[in-house]
Amino acid sequence: MSAQTSRYQSDALPAETVDVAVIGGGPAGLNGALILARSRRSVVVIDGGAPRNAPATAMHGFIVLDGTPPAEILERARRQVRDYGGRVVLGEVAAAEPAAPTATGDLRFAIALADGRTLTARRVLVATGLRDVLPEVPGLAEHWGRGVVHCPYCHGWEVRDEPIGILATGPASVHHAWLFRQLTGDLVYFTRGAGLDPETRARFAARGIRVVETDVKEIAGDGDGALAGVRLADGTLVKRRVLAVATRLEARTEGLEGLALPIEELPGDLGRRIASGTAGATGIPGVWVAGNATDLMAQVGAAAAAGALAGAHINAALAAADTDAALVAARQATG
Ligand SMILES: Cc1cc2nc3c(=O)[nH]c(=O)nc-3n(C[C@H](O)[C@H](O)[C@H](O)COP(=O)(O)OP(=O)(O)OC[C@H]3O[C@@H](n4cnc5c(N)ncnc54)[C@H](O)[C@@H]3O)c2cc1C
Repeated sequence: MSAQTSRYQSDALPAETVDVAVIGGGPAGLNGALILARSRRSVVVIDGGAPRNAPATAMHGFIVLDGTPPAEILERARRQVRDYGGRVVLGEVAAAEPAAPTATGDLRFAIALADGRTLTARRVLVATGLRDVLPEVPGLAEHWGRGVVHCPYCHGWEVRDEPIGILATGPASVHHAWLFRQLTGDLVYFTRGAGLDPETRARFAARGIRVVETDVKEIAGDGDGALAGVRLADGTLVKRRVLAVATRLEARTEGLEGLALPIEELPGDLGRRIASGTAGATGIPGVWVAGNATDLMAQVGAAAAAGALAGAHINAALAAADTDAALVAARQATG
């Protein structure tokens, strides 16, 4: 699913080496940058401007900000980062790789943007989010984030009691069915040719979930941008206001190949993530990851919290490196 790109006022890229380059300016990257900027670290966020939830009209399920448009949250976050001296640069990272360390052994990373601009940073926080890969069903992508949704916690309340469909993509779709059944009594499960075991069938029947096994031909719109329903191979239109689809979740790593990040494929075709340990450490010295790029299930609050924690750990690593360098300099000065 190609993300919607937003344009906003960009800061200039500094010529001098910065403490931290944050790649990605969603909730994870911006919260990481906020913590770092408030710790008086020079930080540059490089952001392609295509956050995952761009199609949604409002963000839900996170206290205080519930109901706020995603673009407004990011605009406020960028302002807060800038208030502490952080920079937010609109651009796509096309290459990132370790560069030669300093004489005292401090790390350096060379980052190049798609438009040719470059930046050198001491540490890197990867916060590039993920891409939702939809099944190839004609008409589906046009409704993504509005009539076609993936998350009961993001959009469920808004469509409660409406006619909802589950478009099966794999084992996660059965789980989806239970969660959306909690929101509506009018739920149809479209198997799309995948078999259903007798036990699941019985459980669906017990909860009043209708099963449609005829293959799906296309997702039909109402002509005004809303969903009309699901057109089956035999021509029947099953009217639905919303379709829930479990997407494949793929961490966004384009342009980051030079960092040799550890990639982990998750079972059940759930997706792939950048593997990480405590506070987003990747195992690659000097590189951390936060948000959906490593935690495929993270909502906005979890992504922001992970970014903040990674930012704090990066600041601590830099403080140790600063102290190492100061000690070397002090010893050299005293002979
Ligand atoms: C339709 C939809 C609705 C949602 N609604 C909700 C909701 O209501 N509540 C909720 O809590 N969660 C919601 N989510 C989930 C939410 O989108 C994620 O939790 C959140 O976006 C994760 O934040 P992130 O910072 O990890 O990634 P993102 O927000 O996706 O930000 C990643 C940023 O990195 C940038 N980027 C990627 N690669 C590069 C590169 N090479 N160079 C430069 N920049 C790059 C992208 O352009 C993007 O701006 C929704 C998701 C979808 C799909």
